[in-house]
Amino acid sequence: VIEVRDLHKAYGSLEVLKGVSLSARRGETLALIGSSGSGKSTLLRCLNLLEDSQQGEILFKGEPVRWKGAGPHRHPADQAQVIRIRTNLSMVFQQFNLWAHMTVLQNVMEAPLTVLRRDRDEVERAARHYLDKVGIGDKADVWPAQLSGGQQQRAAIARALCMEPEALLFDEPTSALDPELEQEVVKVIKDLASEGRTMLIVTHDMKLAADVASHVIFLHQGLIEEEGPPEALFGAPESERLQGFLSSTR
Ligand code: ATP
Ligand code: MG
Repeated sequence: VIEVRDLHKAYGSLEVLKGVSLSARRGETLALIGSSGSGKSTLLRCLNLLEDSQQGEILFKGEPVRWKGAGPHRHPADQAQVIRIRTNLSMVFQQFNLWAHMTVLQNVMEAPLTVLRRDRDEVERAARHYLDKVGIGDKADVWPAQLSGGQQQRAAIARALCMEPEALLFDEPTSALDPELEQEVVKVIKDLASEGRTMLIVTHDMKLAADVASHVIFLHQGLIEEEGPPEALFGAPESERLQGFLSSTR
């Protein structure tokens, strides 16, 4: 579904991604781990074209992003392609980012209505279905502020699902939550993984990564330092940096 080849990204003179390659096949869950500042969030944002990158290729279902310009002047050439890719790679953020002035149901319905211009009745049916699925079907008509953090994050996941995306991108989905609430969200993510959703998850939660990922990528200073199946990465890490990172997170 998603493939990245030799991706480079800098903010001015700060090189954040220095040649990253990865691919997520349909049904695969990739976990991205690494220290703060290693470029994990930047990589997700480059993937769904919220950020430009200066070099390297991004392919969505085999279709390469078309660029105009080069290096620091490179931008996507085709806005319709950007929208198609972005709506197909739905993001879930650490801070939920629900719209405070809309009810939970309106939050979930907004993008399918305005971006995809789908039929209102159909979108409402889908929205209620996904709210049920994440276990907050009874919260459709309340304001986000009336929800617990775990419920807000589940609403954000329902919102992402309602776009019927090809893949879900999670950026630290449980980091803002108390441990008890975290488990509600972990359960939803595990259910999605077992359903065969394609997902990329940036997480500090090594247990979550070990439980749901088919492939784990350890990013260090903008490069992939080590990657592989979770059993190998967590059970027998090869690089000293990964060993150090794992012992610091325990
Ligand atoms: P964390 O675990 O703390 O979320 P991360 O791996 O997600 O870290 P990024 O947010 O991708 O790290 O940031 C990588 C580097 O890029 C950091 O040095 C950060 O300061 C820098 N950076 C991120 N966004 C910007 C920006 N908009 N402008 C300038 N520098 C940025
Ligand atoms: Mg981050």
